[in-house]
Amino acid sequence: QRVEVPAEVHGINPDLLDDRAVKVVKTLTDAGFEAYIVGGAVRDLLLGLRPKDFDVATNATPEQVKGLFRRAFIIGRRFRIVHVVYGRGREHEVIEVSTFRALPTESEAVQGNEKTAKGALDGKSHAVDASGRVLRDNVWGPQVEDAARRDYTVNAMYYDPQRRLVVDYHGGLADAKAKLLRMIGDPETRYREDPVRIIRAVRFAAKLGFAVEAKTLAPIRSSAALLANVPASRLFDEMIKLLQTGHSLASLEQLKKLGLARGVFPVLDAMLTPEGDLPAGTRGEFIRQAFEDTDRRVADGRGVSPSFMLACMLWHEVLDRWTQTRAAGEAPVPALSQAIDGVFDARIGDISGRGKLAADMREIWMMQTRFERRSGSGVFSLVEQPRYRAGFDFLRLRADVGEVDPALADWWEDFALGSDDDRQALLADAR
Ligand code: ATP
Ligand code: MG
Repeated sequence: QRVEVPAEVHGINPDLLDDRAVKVVKTLTDAGFEAYIVGGAVRDLLLGLRPKDFDVATNATPEQVKGLFRRAFIIGRRFRIVHVVYGRGREHEVIEVSTFRALPTESEAVQGNEKTAKGALDGKSHAVDASGRVLRDNVWGPQVEDAARRDYTVNAMYYDPQRRLVVDYHGGLADAKAKLLRMIGDPETRYREDPVRIIRAVRFAAKLGFAVEAKTLAPIRSSAALLANVPASRLFDEMIKLLQTGHSLASLEQLKKLGLARGVFPVLDAMLTPEGDLPAGTRGEFIRQAFEDTDRRVADGRGVSPSFMLACMLWHEVLDRWTQTRAAGEAPVPALSQAIDGVFDARIGDISGRGKLAADMREIWMMQTRFERRSGSGVFSLVEQPRYRAGFDFLRLRADVGEVDPALADWWEDFALGSDDDRQALLADAR
C-alpha cells in the first residue's frame, strides 16, 4: 500500500539534499516522467545524516534518461543504469539514475539453471540460476514493484524533493524511527535470490546501529552457505564496503555474532582466529589500530584506501610465509616477494580489476624491507616514491604496536621532512 508522508511527519531537513540530485529529479519531471530520490539516501535523510551519494529512480528508460542530460552514460549489464555526471576530475559527482524495475514473475523465480537462463537473455529479461539467485534484472515495471524488489524496508522509500513527500510502501518510515532492519517479503527467499543481502544486513546493522528484526535474522546462519555461489569479485567488493563504512570493528563483531566471521571471506579467514576473533597480542593490536584509524578517517571525511587496509589485514600471513621461505634458504627480498605471491593466490585470487590494488599492497609490503636500510642512495629514492606515504604509515603502525623499534619510524619521519643538512646529519647518525 502506497503511503505519502508529508514534511511535517517525516521531518527531512532540506539542507541535507544535494543540489544536483534535485536538479536531476526536476529535469525528469519537467520532461513528464516520474522521478524520486531513492534508497539509501532517503534512509540517511530520515536519520538526519548527509547521504554520501544520491540515487534517483524514474519511470523513464535508460535511453530516455540519457537523452535528457549532456553527460550521461548507460552502464552495467546485470542492472542497466544511467550515470549522470557533473563537474570534472576530483570534484566530479555522479548521480545514479535507475529505471523502476518489475518483480520477477513466479515461474522465472522457480525454474531454470544458469545455462538456460543465459540463453534466454535478450537485454530485457530476468534470469535466475538453479539456487534461485537473480542473475539479471532489466524488466521495467511500476514503482510499487520497484519498491518490493529492494532489500530492506528502510532502503525502499522514495522522496519527491519538489513536493517534499516521502513515498513508503513497506513501513520503512516506522522502521527507521524504531531503528529496525527488516527484510521486505520472505527473508529466506530474498537471501536465496541474492545472498549478498546477508552481508548488507551486517553492514547496515553496524553502520546505522540498527537491530535486525527477528524474522530477518532467523534464516541468516542457514543461508550463509549460499554466499559460496556469489562471484568472488562481488563478495570482495562487499567486504571492502563493509569494512570501510566507518564502523569496521562493529562490523567484525556483527559478522561474528551472525556466524559469518569465518568461511565467507578468505581475507578474514587469514586474519581471524578459528573462533572469529582478532588474534591476541601484537598481531591483533596491529589490526585493531589499523581499523580504528580507518574509522577515524571516514568520520573526518578523509579518504580511505582499500589497499592499505588489506595490506594490514594480510600482513601477518605475509610475515609467516616470509619466515618459512627464508627458512628454506631464500634471500630476504625474493623470499618476501614469494610470500606475497602465495598470499595473493590464497586470499585474493585473480579477481579482475585487482591489478592496481595488488600492486599497491605489494609496494607497501616490499617497502618495509627497504626501511631497514638507513644508508646509500636508496634512502633518497625511497622517500621520493609516490607510495612512500602509505609505506611509512604502515611502518608507523608496526612501530606503534611494538613490532619494530619506534626510533626507526621517527628516523624516517625526520628524514622525509628534513632539510638537506638535516638529512646528512641523520645519515651520519645512522652509520
Ligand atoms: P549505502 O549508503 O551504503 O550506499 P545503500 O542503501 O544506498 O547504502 P546501495 O548499494 O547504494 O546501498 O544500493 C542502493 C539501493 O538499491 C538500496 O538502498 C536498495 O534499495 C537497493 N539495493 C541495493 N542492493 C540490493 C540488493 N542486493 N537487493 C535488493 N535491493 C538492493
Ligand atoms: Mg548508496
